[in-house]
Formats: sequence, structure tokens, C-alpha cells
Amino acid sequence: MTSAKISDNIILVGEKEANYMKKKQFKAESKRLLDLMINSIYTNKEIFLRELISNASDAIDKLYYLSLTDRKVKLEKDDFYIKVEVDKDKNTLTVRDNGIGMNEEELEENLGTIAQSGTLLFKEENKNKETECIGQFGVGFYSAFMVSDKIEVVSKKFGDKKAHIWTSSGADGYTIDECDKDETGTVITLHLKKDTDEENYSKYADEFTIESLIKKYSDYIKYPIKMDLTHEHKKEDSDEVERHTEEEVINSMIPLWKKSKSEIKEDEYNAFYMDKFYDYEKPLSVIHTSVEGKCSYNALMYIPSKAPYDFYAKDYEKGLELYSNGVLIMEKCGDLLPDYFSFVKGLVDTPDVSLNISREILQQDTQVKTIAKSIESKIKKELEEMLQERREDYETFFKTFGINLKFGIYNGFGQNKDVLKDLLMFYSSKEKKLVTLKEYVERMKEGQDKIYYACGETTDKIDLLPQTDKLKEEDYEILYFTDYVDEFAIQILQEYEGKKFANIASENLDIDSKEEKEELEKANKDNKDMFEVMKKAINIKDVRFTKKLKNHPVCLTSEGNVSVEMEKVINAMPTDETITAEKVLEINENHPIVEKLQKLYKEDKDELEKYTKILYSQARLIEGLPIDNPTEISNLICELISK
Ligand code: ADP
Repeated sequence: MTSAKISDNIILVGEKEANYMKKKQFKAESKRLLDLMINSIYTNKEIFLRELISNASDAIDKLYYLSLTDRKVKLEKDDFYIKVEVDKDKNTLTVRDNGIGMNEEELEENLGTIAQSGTLLFKEENKNKETECIGQFGVGFYSAFMVSDKIEVVSKKFGDKKAHIWTSSGADGYTIDECDKDETGTVITLHLKKDTDEENYSKYADEFTIESLIKKYSDYIKYPIKMDLTHEHKKEDSDEVERHTEEEVINSMIPLWKKSKSEIKEDEYNAFYMDKFYDYEKPLSVIHTSVEGKCSYNALMYIPSKAPYDFYAKDYEKGLELYSNGVLIMEKCGDLLPDYFSFVKGLVDTPDVSLNISREILQQDTQVKTIAKSIESKIKKELEEMLQERREDYETFFKTFGINLKFGIYNGFGQNKDVLKDLLMFYSSKEKKLVTLKEYVERMKEGQDKIYYACGETTDKIDLLPQTDKLKEEDYEILYFTDYVDEFAIQILQEYEGKKFANIASENLDIDSKEEKEELEKANKDNKDMFEVMKKAINIKDVRFTKKLKNHPVCLTSEGNVSVEMEKVINAMPTDETITAEKVLEINENHPIVEKLQKLYKEDKDELEKYTKILYSQARLIEGLPIDNPTEISNLICELISK
């Protein structure tokens, strides 16, 4: 056959072959990722093997599933295998499987483009942390380029006659060609990189290294991972060493979740998690349970220590993997997890759901519902234990996922509040750290019957609110709400152990003595007419004296169900809905400004209005609300200070 190279990308081999031999370019993002892999400084290069083996296992899963659900497909579980071969002389490593295989389009689609998740990541904020993230995401197949110069993938799809070979030496593209292959499945051959001063790649062609990597990362893979292992023994009556090779199964094949807890080391749990759920950090908690009874199941679940990068994205899909007797039937079964525990990763294996179950039927399946209920209580128990026994871990957890629990209380009209209320934490003015409601109530002052809270953007800002001074002086503990959902969740909760919640910026705090109250009432009454003038000037619900301010002249509070903080939150949302809190300007009765106001009321009402406008603006600023007419206020201040 004649061949002519007509450009770097096209080699002509006769008319028919020309199409096949055209070198194709990787999609832009794939190329970028590939560059990263090829030039990777990522230290944990060995994970590439686990990625290839997991892919092989997934491919077998797909075919095995077919054999279970399609009677025309006659295959037994024992027919399946993965085989890993090393060749020291050629410096190659091969991973072979007899799974579902790929046809030409699939080779193109699957190996020419990377998974969406990876694409997203590398476009977004993580640009500088690229190498660190490699182990985290489903970059799978491409990781093999960390250790290879060239990769060949020969694959034959189940049911097809033709096989294809995909070849690539990295970022300059790939070719796909027709080729011969007897067995259905995929063979991936890595041509390993040459050793450098820093990096030893030839070890991946070493039997012993590969055997230990399989044991380390892929022991739980359900299908046998075979290797031809060399055994040496001395000949009798001579020093000569005899070698022979034998095919052996390297992995134990028992899925991790089916092993008994006592057999599993923490490292194994963690490695399984990091591999399966693409996290580069260990999980905070492992929940491994086995339930026998009307509805039997094994579950292996994890609470991550960090939120997955897409966790707070709209299209984040919660769910656990659902297996039926070790066969994966659904990758994300959302019905197994309540929304408020959507951060949990893991899997459930049960003999009680049928393999052919569809997504729609699954939703009504009573078995699934029973399992979901049981799982919910296991997760709750685990969190409660963490709170009791590993406080620091729990705080880490809460800082990451606490908002999820708060939404859990708010959503569904509070039907889940009893599940969740003891898992909540808020920042405490006294402890300067997160505390639970139970802890708050237990140390409430004698006679205190409300749980005090204050809202703001940050704990520092709340700490500076005028309203907090007096309570702190009187040694009351205040919970600081900095998430916008906090106050909404608390309104649903209404009370905790019989104690109502009170926003210190909107309620009449019941901390004054009877005399103090009477005195204040009288002062307010005596100045009623003055307050009327002031109210008109700024058009709000009320103006009055208060005793709750220690040093500050004014503060803004509200009456009714809508607090100033809620007004801010709702109005900031991208909907047409706006609400207004009924605002009250409160003036510190003991502040020198009071005398001035009273004097102006008698002598110059115009001037009183100006002062009122300035005071009101100050109160709004402290609350973090905008001023309607900044120019007017600025001019007023200038006018007054020029006098
Ligand atoms: P991921 O496994 O996270 O989807 P990969 O880059 O590892 O990403 O693989 C991309 C896709 O290529 C897989 O989803 C699968 O469809 C296909 N694939 C990879 N390896 C094999 C294999 N050994 N047999 C069949 N298909 C495979």
C-alpha cells in the first residue's frame, strides 16, 4: 500500500483509508486538560490505574446488567474479567476487559471529549489550583497521560462485528482506525514515558508495583482483576532459579460495603470514597450499616469534609448509588436522600428492589421509601454523635453544610423541624463560637424566657449594632444570624423547648425593671407631640425613646412580622416581590441629643425636621440600609456643621 504524508495531520494511505487516518483534534477543554495531564506535577500519578480499572469495571457492569435484563444475552457473571499485563521490555502496561466495548462514535465521543464536570471546573475559579484538583474529578481516562507518551485503545462493542483502534500521543490529536479484535471489550495499552531524574515511570511496567496498586485501590472491584505473576523457585540440587508464570486473581472482589466493619481499615474506607466520589480530601464521617429485616440493605455513606464544587449550583443532583445484589441499577437515586441531607455521598445495596425498576416506579416503591426513612435516621444519628464526640469536626461540617439544614427547616412548612432543630448551630455573643440551641437554653439567665438573636452581614457587624450593647452589659447571650435564611428558619421553628425567639432589633426586650418601664412610658408620653413632628419628617411607623441603647444615640427597629433584615433579604432577591418592615426610630433617652431635640421642638420646628432626617439616616446606615436621598442628607450635614 502506498502512503504519503500530505500534512502533519493527514497521512494519505490510499483512497479508502484516507478518511480513517485523518488525525482529529481534541475539543478545546479536553486539550487543556490533556496538557495538564501530560505536564502534570501532580504527585499522585499512580491513580491512573485505578481510573482505568474502574472504567473497565463500569463497562463490565453495563454488559452484565444487559445479561440480567435481556434474555437474549446469555452471559454469566463468571465470564467477566479484567486483565492487567506488563511488559518490561516494551515498557508498556495494558488493561483489558470484556465489558460492553465502544464503537467508533463512542470512541470519538468518550475519548475525544472530557466529561462535563471537568470542563466546568477548568473554566471556572480553580485556574491556579489545577494540578491539585486532578485527583478530585472524573478526568478518568486522561490521567493515563500522566505516565504515558502514547495510548492505544482497541475496542469492540458488544454485538458489533467491527473493532476500532484509537491512538493518541497527547495534545496533537488522535486517530481512529478499523482493526481486528475477536473478543468483545476494550484493551488499553499505555506506552510509558521514559524515566527522568525526578520521576520513575518504568515502575508501572513492574509486576510487583502493579500488583500492589491493584490491591491498594481496586480490591473491592466486583470482577476478577487478573495478572500473570512470575514465581521463582530454586531447582532441587542446584542453585539455578526456575521461573514460571501463573495467572492469578489479585483483588478480593468483595465489594467494600459487603465486608464486615471489623475487616475494613479507615484508609480503605477513605480510599474508596476518594476514588468513587472524586474528592481529594478524606471524608468527615463514614456511615457503614447493614440492616436485616422486612427491608434489608447495606449502605456505605460518607459526609464530605468540603462541599463538592457544584454543590450550591442549581443543577446539583443529590442521591445515592443504588445496587441490587452488587449490580449497579441507578447512579443517583435521589429518593433515598432527603434534600436537607443532600450532601451525603454513598451507596445502598439491597436485594429487595428489582433490576428492571424504572425511575418512575422507583419513586412509588415502598421498599425504597422504607430504606430512605431508615437512612435518614442513620445520618441524623451520625451527625448527633459527631456533635457530641467530635465537636471540631461537627463545626467544620456545620460551616460547610449548615445552611442546608436551615433550609431543611424552612422548606416544607417546617414538617422536618423536629429532625433538624438539634443539629443547628449559631454564633454566640458570649462564647464567640458556634453553639447549639440546647446549649443556649441550658445556660439562660434566671428569669430569661426568650432566645435573643440579632441579624447582620457578619458577626463583627452585629457585634457593633447599638442594640446589642445593653444586652451584653446585662450578661445576656445573643445568637448572631449571618445567613439570610436564619431568621426565616427561626420563624418556622417559633420556639425551642418552650422558649420563643426574639429579634433584639424588633421586639420590645423584656429586660427592664418595672420602674424603668414606667419611666420610659412616661417620657414617651410627655414627648408625644415632638415625636409626631419627627415622624412626619421621615414618614415611618414610629419614633420613640428607648433604654436599650447604652452609648449610641439612635437605632432602627421594626414592628410586626417583617424585620429590617428580612426586608433587606427579600428585596435583594431577583423577584418582583418587595416588602417593607414597619420601621421605628428609637432614640437613646439618656443621650445629649435628646435635650437638643426638645429645644428645637420648642424654638424651631424646621430645624427639628432636619435633625430628624440626619438621625434617621444614621440609623439606616448602621442597619446597612441605603439612604433614599444621599445628596439631601449630605447637604443637611454640611449646613449644620457650618453653623
Ligand atoms: P468517566 O469514567 O468519569 O466518565 P473517563 O474519561 O474515564 O470518564 O471515560 C469516559 C468514558 O469513556 C466513560 O464514561 C465510558 O463511557 C468510556 N470508557 C472508558 N473506558 C472504557 C472501557 N474500558 N470500556 C468501555 N467504555 C469505556
